[in-house]
Amino acid sequence: MLDLIENLSKSLDKAYNAQSIAGTLRDFFNLNFNVKNLEIFIFDEKSGRIKDFSQEWLEAESGFDSNNNENVEIFDKISKDNFFIENGILFYSIPKQGRSIGFLKFSDGDFEKITEFLKTAVYLISLKIQNILLAENMQKNIDFHELIRNIAKIIETQYELSYIIPLIGEMIDKFMTNHLVYIFVKNNGKFELLWPSNCNDTNILNAFETLPEKNEYKIINNGKTGLFPLVSENRVLGCIAAKSMSSEISESDINYLEQLAKQSSATINRANVYAEILKHATLDALTGFYNRRQLEERIKQETAKAKRQKTPLCAIMIDIDFFKRINDVYGHAAGDLVLKTVSRTMRSQLREYDVAGRYGGEEFAILLPFTRTEEAVMVAERLRQSVENKKIDLSKVNHETPNKIINVTISLGIYEFKITDSADDLLKNADKALYEAKETGRNKVIVKFDE
Ligand code: GH3
Ligand code: MG
Ligand code: MG
Repeated sequence: MLDLIENLSKSLDKAYNAQSIAGTLRDFFNLNFNVKNLEIFIFDEKSGRIKDFSQEWLEAESGFDSNNNENVEIFDKISKDNFFIENGILFYSIPKQGRSIGFLKFSDGDFEKITEFLKTAVYLISLKIQNILLAENMQKNIDFHELIRNIAKIIETQYELSYIIPLIGEMIDKFMTNHLVYIFVKNNGKFELLWPSNCNDTNILNAFETLPEKNEYKIINNGKTGLFPLVSENRVLGCIAAKSMSSEISESDINYLEQLAKQSSATINRANVYAEILKHATLDALTGFYNRRQLEERIKQETAKAKRQKTPLCAIMIDIDFFKRINDVYGHAAGDLVLKTVSRTMRSQLREYDVAGRYGGEEFAILLPFTRTEEAVMVAERLRQSVENKKIDLSKVNHETPNKIINVTISLGIYEFKITDSADDLLKNADKALYEAKETGRNKVIVKFDE
């Protein structure tokens, strides 16, 4: 008997989560008591439900509603007793300080031997289960605080809602396993879906019409769906919607979502303020290049000057190759570092009076006044090589990848302005050349000549 207990203790030591405990117990009772069918149910304080402490535990609440009532009855019964046998099934309480936290359910085996063994062994089992529950809760809380911090950090590099919302969406989605998460932002009084790309949940879409203009969450769809408003200065900016994929949203998930909505509101609010400020700024915050608006201003000036003074003017359109992959593999902070490094590397190759602008995400436009095509090709080739040779150390921003050094390449398109062209033609034609560079293999310079 003591041997058996020691055996059990040793195998439980190796178990590290709910599944492996359940597996260990099943194997143990099968081997030593010839039990073919053992289930473990635990009362989950957060949701107030009895849950199967096995493969579904981590994904939570799926599939238990069917026998939920029955299990609750058993749980009530077992709270009073150590064990009982009913319809040929042995229910054995898992104790914790005089209370019961769940029960073991044996559908077969020698009940006399099992109960004799469990008299002592059940405390071992209970302790192990308690430890796992504690560890899981702690991990969830650590993940949660990490998530809140990451949402707060987004604003350090990004300020466009169309870019921020998907980031927040992805993060929350990863955290809220077993929920479908949507983020809507109010535009002209209507809720517009910004993440993910598609929502056909009519419960959610119809609920917006009755969503109150205040900072309170609302539970709909028989408790399965929650709407958590994004609020700033008493105005509803948008809404995070979460639908539980099995039973009702639990108390603790509501709590998480409320706080996530608050943090997201704060980030969105700051992004709006920031965007407003940046509208009046001339430089792009990440790269130090002219921003799009200012770039367009400079294009007007330079093309007008070229026409007036009959001086040559070239434009280079540049796009980083396979940039999306960097974001996907190393994260957005790494993507931002690449943008910063590429822009700095290019700037160091240019003359003082060359105009460098950030056209969009990872696209740049460079204006070369007093420059003909032949010379522009040389400049572009120099840009291409200097970027290709630049080593970018991602370990600065991504601690999971120590000493991770990568290279990126760029594709470039050149066009020389003609006196009969309009200002718009300059980048439009350079962009056509860039497109050809992409189509024909990337990491190269292509010139667009007149038709
Ligand atoms: P291609 O060689 O064809 O250009 O491939 P690509 O992956 O670079 O193409 P695509 O234009 O689809 O990818 C651009 C990506 O840049 C998508 C977007 O998520 C990302 N992006 C845009 N702006 C920013 C930014 O400011 N920071 C970061 N980290 N990523 C950005
Ligand atoms: Mg690209
Ligand atoms: Mg692009």
